[in-house]
Amino acid sequence: MTDYNSIYNFALENGCQSVFDEPLNKHTSFKIGGKASLFVIPQSDEALSKLLKKCSDDNIRTVIIGNGSNLLVSDDGIDAVVIYTMRDNCEIRLLNETEIYCDAGASLTKVCRFALDNGLSGLEFAFGIPGSVGGAVYMNAGAYGGEIKDVITKCDYMTSDGVSAQMLKEEMALGYRTSIFNKNGCVITGAYFKLKKDSHESIKERMNDFLSRRKSKQPLEFPSAGSTFKRPEGHFAGALIEQSGLKGVSVGGAQVSEKHAGFVINKGNATAKDVMALVELIQKKVKEDSGVDLEPEIKIFS
Ligand SMILES: Cc1cc2nc3c(=O)[nH]c(=O)nc-3n(C[C@H](O)[C@H](O)[C@H](O)COP(=O)(O)OP(=O)(O)OC[C@H]3O[C@@H](n4cnc5c(N)ncnc54)[C@H](O)[C@@H]3O)c2cc1C
Repeated sequence: MTDYNSIYNFALENGCQSVFDEPLNKHTSFKIGGKASLFVIPQSDEALSKLLKKCSDDNIRTVIIGNGSNLLVSDDGIDAVVIYTMRDNCEIRLLNETEIYCDAGASLTKVCRFALDNGLSGLEFAFGIPGSVGGAVYMNAGAYGGEIKDVITKCDYMTSDGVSAQMLKEEMALGYRTSIFNKNGCVITGAYFKLKKDSHESIKERMNDFLSRRKSKQPLEFPSAGSTFKRPEGHFAGALIEQSGLKGVSVGGAQVSEKHAGFVINKGNATAKDVMALVELIQKKVKEDSGVDLEPEIKIFS
Protein backbone atom coordinates (compact mmCIF):
# COMPACT_ATOMS: atom_id res chain seq x y z
CA MET A 1 0.00 0.00 0.00
CA THR A 2 1.41 3.36 -1.01
CA ASP A 3 1.34 6.06 1.64
CA TYR A 4 0.18 9.20 -0.14
CA ASN A 5 0.29 11.43 2.96
CA SER A 6 3.80 12.72 2.32
CA ILE A 7 2.97 13.56 -1.32
CA TYR A 8 -0.24 15.26 -0.19
CA ASN A 9 1.68 17.50 2.23
CA PHE A 10 4.49 18.10 -0.25
CA ALA A 11 2.00 19.05 -2.97
CA LEU A 12 0.19 21.56 -0.74
CA GLU A 13 3.49 23.13 0.37
CA ASN A 14 4.73 23.39 -3.22
CA GLY A 15 2.03 25.14 -5.21
CA CYS A 16 -0.45 22.35 -5.91
CA GLN A 17 -4.06 21.77 -4.97
CA SER A 18 -4.38 18.28 -3.63
CA VAL A 19 -7.24 16.01 -2.55
CA PHE A 20 -7.53 12.37 -1.49
CA ASP A 21 -9.98 9.94 -3.08
CA GLU A 22 -11.28 12.26 -5.79
CA PRO A 23 -14.02 10.56 -7.86
CA LEU A 24 -12.75 10.46 -11.44
CA ASN A 25 -16.21 10.20 -12.97
CA LYS A 26 -16.26 13.98 -12.33
CA HIS A 27 -13.26 14.39 -14.63
CA THR A 28 -14.08 12.09 -17.55
CA SER A 29 -16.45 12.81 -20.43
CA PHE A 30 -17.73 9.20 -20.07
CA LYS A 31 -18.79 10.09 -16.48
CA ILE A 32 -17.28 6.76 -15.44
CA GLY A 33 -14.45 5.88 -13.09
CA GLY A 34 -13.59 5.17 -9.46
CA LYS A 35 -11.40 7.32 -7.22
CA ALA A 36 -7.90 8.68 -7.63
CA SER A 37 -5.84 7.87 -4.53
CA LEU A 38 -4.48 11.41 -4.69
CA PHE A 39 -5.68 14.04 -7.18
CA VAL A 40 -3.31 16.95 -7.67
CA ILE A 41 -3.61 20.17 -9.66
CA PRO A 42 -0.21 21.88 -10.00
CA GLN A 43 -0.76 25.63 -10.23
CA SER A 44 2.39 26.29 -12.30
CA ASP A 45 5.02 24.44 -14.30
CA GLU A 46 7.43 24.92 -11.40
CA ALA A 47 4.97 23.18 -9.06
CA LEU A 48 4.52 20.36 -11.60
CA SER A 49 8.27 19.91 -11.88
CA LYS A 50 8.73 19.66 -8.09
CA LEU A 51 5.84 17.21 -7.81
CA LEU A 52 7.17 14.96 -10.59
CA LYS A 53 10.62 14.94 -9.01
CA LYS A 54 9.26 14.08 -5.57
CA CYS A 55 7.08 11.24 -6.94
CA SER A 56 10.01 9.94 -8.98
CA ASP A 57 12.36 10.06 -5.95
CA ASP A 58 9.76 8.29 -3.77
CA ASN A 59 8.96 5.79 -6.53
CA ILE A 60 5.28 6.76 -6.58
CA ARG A 61 3.24 6.23 -9.73
CA THR A 62 1.86 9.29 -11.51
CA VAL A 63 -0.87 9.45 -14.14
CA ILE A 64 -1.58 12.54 -16.24
CA ILE A 65 -5.05 13.56 -17.25
CA GLY A 66 -6.27 16.52 -19.26
CA ASN A 67 -9.97 16.90 -19.88
CA GLY A 68 -10.56 13.15 -19.58
CA SER A 69 -12.33 13.07 -22.95
CA ASN A 70 -10.48 10.06 -24.30
CA LEU A 71 -10.41 8.00 -21.13
CA LEU A 72 -12.05 4.95 -19.68
CA VAL A 73 -11.15 4.85 -15.98
CA SER A 74 -11.58 1.58 -14.08
CA ASP A 75 -14.43 1.30 -11.57
CA ASP A 76 -11.75 0.58 -8.94
CA GLY A 77 -10.16 3.94 -9.69
CA ILE A 78 -6.46 4.70 -10.12
CA ASP A 79 -3.98 3.87 -7.38
CA ALA A 80 -1.59 6.71 -8.21
CA VAL A 81 -1.02 10.43 -7.97
CA VAL A 82 -3.37 11.62 -10.71
CA ILE A 83 -2.11 14.94 -12.06
CA TYR A 84 -4.78 17.13 -13.62
CA THR A 85 -3.35 19.67 -16.07
CA MET A 86 -6.32 21.99 -16.61
CA ARG A 87 -5.58 24.57 -13.94
CA ASP A 88 -7.60 27.79 -14.12
CA ASN A 89 -4.80 30.15 -15.09
CA CYS A 90 -3.69 28.47 -18.33
CA GLU A 91 -2.16 30.82 -20.82
CA ILE A 92 -2.89 31.25 -24.54
CA ARG A 93 -0.92 34.02 -26.25
CA LEU A 94 0.23 35.39 -29.57
CA LEU A 95 3.97 35.04 -30.21
CA ASN A 96 3.91 37.00 -33.44
CA GLU A 97 1.48 37.62 -36.32
CA THR A 98 0.83 33.94 -37.04
CA GLU A 99 2.14 31.89 -34.11
CA ILE A 100 0.49 31.13 -30.81
CA TYR A 101 1.64 29.49 -27.59
CA CYS A 102 -0.74 27.55 -25.33
CA ASP A 103 -0.22 25.89 -21.96
CA ALA A 104 -0.98 22.17 -22.15
CA GLY A 105 -3.90 22.55 -19.78
CA ALA A 106 -5.68 25.10 -21.97
CA SER A 107 -8.95 23.95 -23.49
CA LEU A 108 -8.73 23.25 -27.20
CA THR A 109 -12.03 25.01 -27.74
CA LYS A 110 -10.66 28.17 -26.09
CA VAL A 111 -7.55 27.96 -28.28
CA CYS A 112 -9.73 27.70 -31.40
CA ARG A 113 -11.71 30.76 -30.29
CA PHE A 114 -8.47 32.65 -29.61
CA ALA A 115 -7.24 31.81 -33.13
CA LEU A 116 -10.55 33.01 -34.58
CA ASP A 117 -10.39 36.27 -32.61
CA ASN A 118 -6.93 36.88 -34.04
CA GLY A 119 -7.87 36.03 -37.64
CA LEU A 120 -5.75 32.86 -37.63
CA SER A 121 -6.70 29.78 -39.59
CA GLY A 122 -5.53 26.17 -39.21
CA LEU A 123 -7.22 25.00 -36.02
CA GLU A 124 -10.81 24.98 -37.29
CA PHE A 125 -10.76 21.17 -37.42
CA ALA A 126 -10.24 21.07 -33.66
CA PHE A 127 -13.28 23.17 -32.79
CA GLY A 128 -15.56 20.84 -30.87
CA ILE A 129 -12.90 18.31 -29.84
CA PRO A 130 -13.46 18.45 -26.08
CA GLY A 131 -9.86 18.06 -24.95
CA SER A 132 -6.94 19.99 -23.52
CA VAL A 133 -4.01 21.05 -25.67
CA GLY A 134 -1.78 18.44 -23.96
CA GLY A 135 -4.27 15.65 -24.61
CA ALA A 136 -4.62 16.78 -28.22
CA VAL A 137 -0.85 16.72 -28.76
CA TYR A 138 -0.49 13.35 -27.00
CA MET A 139 -3.23 11.88 -29.22
CA ASN A 140 -2.39 13.93 -32.34
CA ALA A 141 -6.09 14.71 -32.34
CA GLY A 142 -7.70 15.29 -35.70
CA ALA A 143 -10.94 15.65 -37.60
CA TYR A 144 -12.29 16.69 -40.99
CA GLY A 145 -8.96 16.31 -42.75
CA GLY A 146 -6.89 18.24 -40.19
CA GLU A 147 -4.74 17.11 -37.29
CA ILE A 148 -2.43 18.63 -34.68
CA LYS A 149 0.55 17.53 -36.77
CA ASP A 150 -0.43 20.08 -39.45
CA VAL A 151 -0.13 23.08 -37.16
CA ILE A 152 2.25 22.31 -34.30
CA THR A 153 5.88 23.42 -34.60
CA LYS A 154 7.25 22.38 -31.20
CA CYS A 155 6.24 21.66 -27.63
CA ASP A 156 7.52 22.13 -24.10
CA TYR A 157 7.57 19.04 -21.92
CA MET A 158 8.95 17.59 -18.70
CA THR A 159 10.57 14.25 -18.14
CA SER A 160 8.92 11.97 -15.61
CA ASP A 161 11.36 13.30 -12.99
CA GLY A 162 10.47 16.92 -13.67
CA VAL A 163 13.24 18.17 -15.98
CA SER A 164 11.98 20.71 -18.56
CA ALA A 165 12.89 20.51 -22.24
CA GLN A 166 11.62 21.38 -25.68
CA MET A 167 10.91 19.12 -28.64
CA LEU A 168 10.51 19.98 -32.32
CA LYS A 169 7.58 18.61 -34.30
CA GLU A 170 9.95 16.37 -36.32
CA GLU A 171 10.95 14.57 -33.11
CA MET A 172 7.41 14.05 -31.88
CA ALA A 173 6.55 10.95 -34.00
CA LEU A 174 3.08 12.32 -34.69
CA GLY A 175 0.96 9.68 -36.43
CA TYR A 176 -2.65 8.61 -36.57
CA ARG A 177 -3.86 9.23 -32.98
CA THR A 178 -0.39 8.80 -31.56
CA SER A 179 2.79 10.63 -30.65
CA ILE A 180 6.09 9.88 -28.94
CA PHE A 181 4.42 10.82 -25.65
CA ASN A 182 2.50 7.52 -25.77
CA LYS A 183 5.86 5.85 -25.15
CA ASN A 184 8.22 8.18 -23.33
CA GLY A 185 6.27 8.93 -20.12
CA CYS A 186 6.93 12.67 -20.43
CA VAL A 187 4.42 15.37 -19.63
CA ILE A 188 3.58 17.97 -22.28
CA THR A 189 3.47 21.43 -20.72
CA GLY A 190 2.96 23.72 -23.73
CA ALA A 191 2.49 23.77 -27.49
CA TYR A 192 3.39 26.18 -30.29
CA PHE A 193 1.11 26.44 -33.30
CA LYS A 194 1.88 28.08 -36.64
CA LEU A 195 -1.30 29.31 -38.31
CA LYS A 196 -2.22 31.39 -41.35
CA LYS A 197 -3.91 34.74 -41.62
CA ASP A 198 -7.47 34.58 -42.92
CA SER A 199 -10.68 36.52 -42.57
CA HIS A 200 -12.73 36.18 -39.43
CA GLU A 201 -15.82 35.24 -41.51
CA SER A 202 -14.11 32.38 -43.41
CA ILE A 203 -12.62 30.90 -40.23
CA LYS A 204 -15.91 31.19 -38.38
CA GLU A 205 -17.81 29.62 -41.27
CA ARG A 206 -15.51 26.57 -41.24
CA MET A 207 -15.69 26.25 -37.46
CA ASN A 208 -19.48 26.41 -37.51
CA ASP A 209 -19.66 23.94 -40.39
CA PHE A 210 -17.53 21.38 -38.52
CA LEU A 211 -19.48 21.92 -35.32
CA SER A 212 -22.84 21.43 -37.00
CA ARG A 213 -21.54 18.26 -38.69
CA ARG A 214 -20.54 16.98 -35.24
CA LYS A 215 -23.92 17.83 -33.77
CA SER A 216 -25.80 16.08 -36.56
CA LYS A 217 -23.65 12.91 -36.65
CA GLN A 218 -22.40 12.38 -33.09
CA PRO A 219 -24.38 11.40 -29.97
CA LEU A 220 -23.31 14.52 -28.07
CA GLU A 221 -26.36 14.28 -25.82
CA PHE A 222 -24.81 11.26 -24.04
CA PRO A 223 -21.52 10.91 -22.16
CA SER A 224 -18.85 9.14 -24.21
CA ALA A 225 -15.14 9.29 -24.97
CA GLY A 226 -15.64 10.04 -28.67
CA SER A 227 -14.78 7.37 -31.24
CA THR A 228 -14.26 4.16 -29.32
CA PHE A 229 -11.98 2.58 -31.92
CA LYS A 230 -9.29 3.78 -34.28
CA ARG A 231 -10.15 3.77 -37.97
CA PRO A 232 -8.89 0.46 -39.36
CA GLU A 233 -7.03 0.89 -42.65
CA GLY A 234 -9.44 0.82 -45.58
CA HIS A 235 -12.54 0.81 -43.37
CA PHE A 236 -14.62 2.90 -40.98
CA ALA A 237 -15.10 1.41 -37.51
CA GLY A 238 -18.69 2.72 -37.27
CA ALA A 239 -19.70 1.15 -40.61
CA LEU A 240 -18.20 -2.24 -39.65
CA ILE A 241 -19.99 -2.18 -36.29
CA GLU A 242 -23.27 -1.25 -37.97
CA GLN A 243 -22.84 -4.00 -40.59
CA SER A 244 -22.43 -6.46 -37.73
CA GLY A 245 -25.88 -5.44 -36.49
CA LEU A 246 -24.55 -3.96 -33.27
CA LYS A 247 -26.14 -0.51 -33.40
CA GLY A 248 -28.10 -0.01 -30.17
CA VAL A 249 -26.68 -3.14 -28.50
CA SER A 250 -26.12 -2.68 -24.75
CA VAL A 251 -24.20 -4.20 -21.90
CA GLY A 252 -25.53 -2.78 -18.63
CA GLY A 253 -25.57 1.00 -19.03
CA ALA A 254 -23.15 1.04 -21.99
CA GLN A 255 -24.60 1.12 -25.47
CA VAL A 256 -23.44 1.25 -29.08
CA SER A 257 -24.91 4.60 -30.07
CA GLU A 258 -27.97 4.38 -32.33
CA LYS A 259 -26.86 7.67 -33.90
CA HIS A 260 -23.23 6.72 -34.64
CA ALA A 261 -22.10 3.12 -34.16
CA GLY A 262 -18.50 4.27 -33.74
CA PHE A 263 -19.39 5.67 -30.32
CA VAL A 264 -20.02 3.67 -27.16
CA ILE A 265 -22.17 5.86 -24.94
CA ASN A 266 -23.09 5.90 -21.26
CA LYS A 267 -26.87 5.65 -21.21
CA GLY A 268 -26.85 6.20 -17.44
CA ASN A 269 -24.94 4.48 -14.67
CA ALA A 270 -22.67 2.55 -17.03
CA THR A 271 -19.62 1.09 -15.35
CA ALA A 272 -16.17 0.71 -16.88
CA LYS A 273 -16.83 -3.03 -16.70
CA ASP A 274 -19.95 -2.59 -18.89
CA VAL A 275 -17.97 -0.56 -21.43
CA MET A 276 -15.13 -3.09 -21.53
CA ALA A 277 -17.55 -6.00 -21.99
CA LEU A 278 -19.24 -4.12 -24.85
CA VAL A 279 -15.89 -3.24 -26.44
CA GLU A 280 -14.87 -6.91 -26.35
CA LEU A 281 -18.22 -8.02 -27.76
CA ILE A 282 -17.85 -5.52 -30.65
CA GLN A 283 -14.27 -6.60 -31.36
CA LYS A 284 -15.26 -10.29 -31.43
CA LYS A 285 -18.31 -9.86 -33.68
CA VAL A 286 -16.60 -7.50 -36.14
CA LYS A 287 -13.63 -9.85 -36.38
CA GLU A 288 -15.96 -12.79 -37.10
CA ASP A 289 -18.01 -10.88 -39.67
CA SER A 290 -15.38 -8.78 -41.48
CA GLY A 291 -12.04 -10.22 -40.39
CA VAL A 292 -11.00 -6.77 -39.15
CA ASP A 293 -9.31 -6.16 -35.79
CA LEU A 294 -10.65 -3.05 -34.07
CA GLU A 295 -8.13 -1.30 -31.85
CA PRO A 296 -9.48 0.95 -29.08
CA GLU A 297 -8.73 4.64 -29.51
CA ILE A 298 -9.81 5.33 -25.94
CA LYS A 299 -7.14 5.01 -23.25
CA ILE A 300 -7.97 2.56 -20.49
CA PHE A 301 -6.64 3.55 -17.06
CA SER A 302 -6.64 1.51 -13.88
C1 LIG B 1 -17.79 13.92 -28.02
C2 LIG B 1 -16.35 13.68 -28.33
C3 LIG B 1 -15.86 13.96 -29.60
C4 LIG B 1 -14.50 13.73 -29.89
N1 LIG B 1 -14.05 14.02 -31.15
C5 LIG B 1 -12.76 13.81 -31.45
C6 LIG B 1 -12.24 14.09 -32.76
O1 LIG B 1 -12.96 14.57 -33.63
N2 LIG B 1 -10.94 13.86 -33.00
C7 LIG B 1 -10.10 13.36 -32.05
O2 LIG B 1 -8.90 13.18 -32.33
N3 LIG B 1 -10.54 13.08 -30.80
C8 LIG B 1 -11.84 13.29 -30.48
N4 LIG B 1 -12.29 13.01 -29.21
C9 LIG B 1 -11.39 12.40 -28.21
C10 LIG B 1 -10.66 13.41 -27.30
O3 LIG B 1 -11.41 14.59 -27.16
C11 LIG B 1 -9.27 13.74 -27.84
O4 LIG B 1 -8.47 12.58 -27.91
C12 LIG B 1 -8.57 14.79 -26.97
O5 LIG B 1 -7.41 15.21 -27.64
C13 LIG B 1 -8.16 14.24 -25.59
O6 LIG B 1 -7.72 15.32 -24.80
P1 LIG B 1 -7.89 15.32 -23.21
O7 LIG B 1 -7.28 16.54 -22.68
O8 LIG B 1 -9.32 15.08 -22.87
O9 LIG B 1 -7.01 14.06 -22.86
P2 LIG B 1 -7.31 12.93 -21.76
O10 LIG B 1 -8.51 12.15 -22.21
O11 LIG B 1 -7.34 13.51 -20.42
O12 LIG B 1 -6.01 12.03 -21.94
C14 LIG B 1 -5.78 11.32 -23.14
C15 LIG B 1 -4.34 10.79 -23.08
O13 LIG B 1 -3.45 11.90 -23.14
C16 LIG B 1 -2.56 11.88 -22.02
N5 LIG B 1 -2.31 13.29 -21.68
C17 LIG B 1 -3.22 14.26 -21.49
N6 LIG B 1 -2.60 15.43 -21.24
C18 LIG B 1 -1.27 15.18 -21.27
C19 LIG B 1 -0.10 15.98 -21.07
N7 LIG B 1 -0.17 17.28 -20.81
N8 LIG B 1 1.11 15.38 -21.17
C20 LIG B 1 1.22 14.05 -21.45
N9 LIG B 1 0.14 13.24 -21.62
C21 LIG B 1 -1.08 13.81 -21.55
C22 LIG B 1 -3.29 11.10 -20.94
O14 LIG B 1 -2.37 10.53 -20.03
C23 LIG B 1 -4.02 10.06 -21.79
O15 LIG B 1 -3.16 8.97 -22.08
C24 LIG B 1 -13.64 13.22 -28.90
C25 LIG B 1 -14.14 12.96 -27.61
C26 LIG B 1 -15.48 13.19 -27.33
C27 LIG B 1 -15.99 12.91 -25.94
